[in-house]
Amino acid sequence: MKKILIATRNKGKLNDIKEIFKDLEIEILSFLDFEDAPDVEETGKSFEENAQLKAKACYDKFKIPSVGDDSGLVVEQLNGEPGIYSARYAGENANDFLNNEKLIKEIQKFPEPHRAKFVCVASYFDGEKFVNAYGEIKGRVITEPRGKNGFGYDPLFIPNGYDKTFGELSHEEKNKISHRSMTFRKLHKKLEAFL
Ligand code: IMP
Repeated sequence: MKKILIATRNKGKLNDIKEIFKDLEIEILSFLDFEDAPDVEETGKSFEENAQLKAKACYDKFKIPSVGDDSGLVVEQLNGEPGIYSARYAGENANDFLNNEKLIKEIQKFPEPHRAKFVCVASYFDGEKFVNAYGEIKGRVITEPRGKNGFGYDPLFIPNGYDKTFGELSHEEKNKISHRSMTFRKLHKKLEAFL
């Protein structure tokens, strides 16, 4: 059976991806299956570059077709910040709480609505070619966190057409519309053609 290595240690992310790829005849591996997984620095200047860096580093190390992904929150009034720096917006020791605190501080300088989108790029690399997929979900950011579900900026993001934050939606509801699931559904479609 063909194998694909997903460059992540995140069990939640992995299970969501496995669910999307379940109809394909492939074995899905992740960094949880290896002790010496590479720690890839996100030095790219775009989501796409970072996703490709991860996929390539992973392929180079294990010689298994690999998928890397990168995602983040892009806020219009902040000229696209936090963007590719979403995970470390509040600095080197950033965590979700500090990142959210910083985001609130920055957007409060601007009038509502604070238009934003979550974006995700996934990149597959098999030693010869890259296959990329992109997904996004548009919405707005609020200044009072709501909801305990999810992670990262979820309590501050309300997708268009909803009145709940990602932090208030269930995992299943978020998965139907999220940037990550859209990206991996598109990647699935592209890979299906030749896997
Ligand atoms: P990564 O793509 O796993 O490196 O995620 C980058 C960062 O973007 C995360 O640490 C979060 O801060 C933010 N982010 C990406 N996707 C989501 C999401 O679905 N909800 C909330 N925050 C997210």
